[in-house]
Amino acid sequence: MALNKILLQCIALFAVASYCIGVTIQPRSAWGAAPPKWNTKIRGGPVQYVIIHHSDNPNGCSDSARCQQLIRNIQSDHKGRRGFSDIGYNFIVAGDGKVYEGRGFGNQGSHAPRYNDKSIGIVFIGNFENQLPSSTMLNNAKELIAQAVSSGYLKSDYTLWGHRQTKSTACPGTALFNEIKTWPHWSS
Ligand SMILES: [Zn+2]
Repeated sequence: MALNKILLQCIALFAVASYCIGVTIQPRSAWGAAPPKWNTKIRGGPVQYVIIHHSDNPNGCSDSARCQQLIRNIQSDHKGRRGFSDIGYNFIVAGDGKVYEGRGFGNQGSHAPRYNDKSIGIVFIGNFENQLPSSTMLNNAKELIAQAVSSGYLKSDYTLWGHRQTKSTACPGTALFNEIKTWPHWSS
């Protein structure tokens, strides 16, 4: 077999393997989640939208203890002051290089009124008005989106939006918004 053919097969195998492995989603227990007040299931199969947020924490987080504390704080704020059933987001991309489960797949979030029953809400911990999340965080979000499609929770012809495309808000910050504009499936 010609060397170039062997190389091509190796690359193909590697691509399949890495696609199958995807990103590890840390369960709610990993961040010490309080139980939700209730859950609302999304009906009607895979959703159309992925909506990207930032948490607006000025310094973000880089170690897991700090990231998990910030996530608990968000849940506490959302369940308390905001009156939500749970943390509003489906998933949390944190600066410790991990992806955490919020409401998870198949449950309706509280992150973008009018779109909560047709979207997956992903928040990046930090403020990304003037700076980008780390490349690890960006790659984790991309892998999470791929996993949402491959596991049947997101349509393959999905639409990627920043929160500011659904209402008047600075979220997800201009730097991060400009970044996701370059990703597949972003639409004006
Ligand atoms: Zn937002």
